[in-house]
Amino acid sequence: MNESRTISYTCPYCGREFGVEVFDSVIADDSPDLRDRCLSGDLFRVSCPHCKQEYMVQYPLVYIDRARRFVLFLNENEELPMMVKNLAETLVKAGYRLRRTPTLAEFTEKIQIFEDDVDDRLVELAKYDSLIEFIDNKKGSAADVTAIDYQRTENGVMKINVRTGDKGMSFLIPLTMIEEELNMSPERYELNADFPVVNAAWLIDLFEPKPDEKSLN
Ligand SMILES: [Zn+2]
Repeated sequence: MNESRTISYTCPYCGREFGVEVFDSVIADDSPDLRDRCLSGDLFRVSCPHCKQEYMVQYPLVYIDRARRFVLFLNENEELPMMVKNLAETLVKAGYRLRRTPTLAEFTEKIQIFEDDVDDRLVELAKYDSLIEFIDNKKGSAADVTAIDYQRTENGVMKINVRTGDKGMSFLIPLTMIEEELNMSPERYELNADFPVVNAAWLIDLFEPKPDEKSLN
């Protein structure tokens, strides 16, 4: 069941109010149209009827794909609502992959990754490797990079795009190579939270010395 309601929203440009339809949950396999609008981000695009400005409005949303068994919780807050927390245990038992995505960009990318049936931890490793290769090949510095995007996985090869402004450079990474990297220390990459976040910050944090490790030095 896809649940939507209309909320009163104050336009950040003109300060006037208008009604915005927001969804609490989307069940992708029930409504391909809503799935498409999530993937394109259109579901979050609004147009102010007063000043005609168009922009994105992000709000908490539970996205469920029963066929591919994953649930995404779009929310920038770390704190999970009780309803979502209670859902977690049941879903994990049923074999679902759960993720929280703090941003809209991560949300749409994660749908793509899970629809390709790829382990998103491998994607973050591949993105990091692409960035290192980009810098090592003197294509630019880390500061030039505006985004690192997952494109797709085909025939065992993952395609990552490193973007600098309006330019992009593609990197093709064999899945077996990143799997090997992950399997060297699988415990490092274990996910423990109910709705874990798997993004660049997650990966970087894994390699940060923890406070108790620091004191040993
Ligand atoms: Zn407005």
